[in-house]
Amino acid sequence: MAVASITPATPEHRSACASALAAVRPDEPISRSAALHLIRCSDADLPQLLAAARAAKERFKRGVITYSRKVFLPLTNLCRDYCGYCTFRRDPGDPGAHTMTPDEVLAVARAGEELGCTEALFSLGDKPELLFPEMRETLRRLGYKSTLHYLEAMCDLVLRETSLLPHPNPGLLSAEWIARLAVVSPSMGLMLETTNSVLLAPGAAHDNAPDKVPAKRLRTIEDAGRQNVPFTTGLLIGIGESPEDRVDTLLAIRDLHQRYGHIQEVIVQNFRAKPAIPMAHWPEPGPGEMLRTVAVTRLLLPNLNIQAPPNLSAPYYDELADAGINDWGGISPLTPDYINPEKPWPHLEQLRLRTAAKGFALRQRLPVYPEFLPAVAAKPGLLSAKLRAAAGEDGLARIKRAA
Ligand code: SF4
Repeated sequence: MAVASITPATPEHRSACASALAAVRPDEPISRSAALHLIRCSDADLPQLLAAARAAKERFKRGVITYSRKVFLPLTNLCRDYCGYCTFRRDPGDPGAHTMTPDEVLAVARAGEELGCTEALFSLGDKPELLFPEMRETLRRLGYKSTLHYLEAMCDLVLRETSLLPHPNPGLLSAEWIARLAVVSPSMGLMLETTNSVLLAPGAAHDNAPDKVPAKRLRTIEDAGRQNVPFTTGLLIGIGESPEDRVDTLLAIRDLHQRYGHIQEVIVQNFRAKPAIPMAHWPEPGPGEMLRTVAVTRLLLPNLNIQAPPNLSAPYYDELADAGINDWGGISPLTPDYINPEKPWPHLEQLRLRTAAKGFALRQRLPVYPEFLPAVAAKPGLLSAKLRAAAGEDGLARIKRAA
């Protein structure tokens, strides 16, 4: 894949990158200043950066890249936020605006179960009932006080009626709601995206997106940490942030993980331009930027699970395996990626072959990663029983059908 140079290869910059790479120590995160040099490394230094990241990944989890076989449940695509890059959200009355019924949720979950899925990923807009009377009416008809009450009930339904494990991704959560959802799901997620609040300014990516205030998102992630809830987060690159912002976002995640030990996965997601979004003509981050960001993520977080979605880097996604990821994220054999519907997930057999060509075995994991599983499975109740039934001895998915 062609990779754009980030910084001209001046002798000074090349020397700083060489020093940063020479200072990499096994299992020790690199410093902010090393990360700032490396995330801007020249094309000439990129192979050394990738080699260091891949070696760090191999010290963490050798020989394997995982994925989660999932169904995608867009519980509602109504959302009170208006992120400039979002194709998922709708207003009431827009073509495609929809809130799933319990029957629809169960039908998709059961179809996924037939195909060996182990994760029910609930993605939804953030608190749409605060903005739209139509959503309040929908919830009243369904018999729930809020979208989160409905989400909780649907996680419980999937848990009771199928072998799938829910992983909700509902936006900002209070400490009380984290505790409630943790009863019906082994893990949950919220993308931090960026710590730069400049993106909330008029015309920027998070203009008119009140739930994207970085301090609020950090608070949700911290509240999950206080409750030891395995948590997925990550950064979204190419939405107007700088390389320094990316490093600082990763450092904020690292800080929370150092304090609470609950970050089970960090996603590095790249912005893709799509027609009909406010940022339709915004430049996409190039493959080289993505490789540098993933590699620096690995070196800043050497012992954390790092994921990059393959469909957003197709057709060259397998090169991400050289940059230190150890997970491809949720891949569905059934449902489209409703967040990026124009970017289909790779066929699982293709993913297996291309992962193998990079020297790694593709393995199916559960929504909760193996190292976080024992604490959740030790709790009493249906969730832990379902979790123990779904997990093999290695903590990955017990269903071992061919990818
Ligand atoms: S990205 Fe999420 S919060 Fe933002 S508009 Fe889309 S659904 Fe809403």
